[in-house]
Amino acid sequence: MNKDWVDKDFYKVLGVAKDAPQDEIKRAYRKLAQKHHPDANPDNLSAEDKFKDISEAYATLSNEEHRTEYDQVRRMVESGGFQGFGGGSGPFTGGQRVRVEDLGDLLGGAGGLGDLFGFGRSGGRTGPRRGADHHAELHLSFEDAFHGVTTSVAVEGEAACRRCGGSGAEPGTQAQVCPTCRGAGTVAQSQGFFSISQPCPQCRGNGKLIEQPCSTCHGRGSEVRSRTIRVKVPAGVAGGSAIRLRGKGAPGSNGGPAGDLIVRVHVARHPIFHRRGQDLTVRVPITFTEAALGTAIDVPTLNGPVKLKVAAGTRSGKIFRVRGRGVPRVRGKAGDLLVTVEVAVPQKLPRAAKKMLEQFAEEFEQESPRAHLEV
Ligand SMILES: [Zn+2]
Ligand SMILES: [Zn+2]
Repeated sequence: MNKDWVDKDFYKVLGVAKDAPQDEIKRAYRKLAQKHHPDANPDNLSAEDKFKDISEAYATLSNEEHRTEYDQVRRMVESGGFQGFGGGSGPFTGGQRVRVEDLGDLLGGAGGLGDLFGFGRSGGRTGPRRGADHHAELHLSFEDAFHGVTTSVAVEGEAACRRCGGSGAEPGTQAQVCPTCRGAGTVAQSQGFFSISQPCPQCRGNGKLIEQPCSTCHGRGSEVRSRTIRVKVPAGVAGGSAIRLRGKGAPGSNGGPAGDLIVRVHVARHPIFHRRGQDLTVRVPITFTEAALGTAIDVPTLNGPVKLKVAAGTRSGKIFRVRGRGVPRVRGKAGDLLVTVEVAVPQKLPRAAKKMLEQFAEEFEQESPRAHLEV
């Protein structure tokens, strides 16, 4: 948390409602970022400020964890319970007794308290902090999901700054270990009866001092940008499942690990095949004579056709199981292909064929197949 959280309404900055879903926030950010990008507005300093505000608002609101904390802080601000840094009438003065743990909870864990007293820097925290998870959607064809594929997804969000490689220091310079906390990021400070571990006031919890901050990220070490990330999709992946790519999320802070990228998989329908669990289903028409006399037919599968023996006298709707021709599994055996044969009835008969069928009926269909239905 930082002072901007108290002062700025990020929802207003992006022009979205407080309960706006992530995709709406993303759309608003993209539109504004394009309009106010410094490259598109050279010589316009207010555009640069505006761009920074937009980026900061997006970096906070696009991260659900940060957004929740931000909303909590804003609720306090708006209800008058929190009146800024160094103010005299906030909830922490005026004789009220507030337990330290309560504050920690309220502001999302350790570090919140120190930040509140003004030691925090933008995004700064005591101790290592894992980066946020990023989310992406991946749309696959039925075939790609079946066979597996290596593809890529576009991700927008916090990533290591390209200019400084995440160090926060201008290229050519180096961050120094903070002499006050010797790199720990915290110092012990006694407050009345307590001894509270505070973020180090010199390095603001970072553990290091950046003398010449990177000109792109201003020392943050991260920037909001789009990235293209390769995803290896295993054969047989199901629609609605998620693939987790460790360490491909937002970078951690104060030496913490990066978050993960969670890729939600969507699979398109297939015109012929349907998936039922690990099995595939397909409907195959056969003629009346094939059903009556028996035949061998070619059944399509996603690995080339297979021969299927249809016995004489096969009824319409019978299901044949072709083992191992269903959806592959990462481990273990593939599912089966379930073939439903359907007797196709000709819609139009040539005169000669009609005559022959009439003859056939007269000779061989004396007894009605519905005889047993008579009550
Ligand atoms: Zn940088
Ligand atoms: Zn320090």
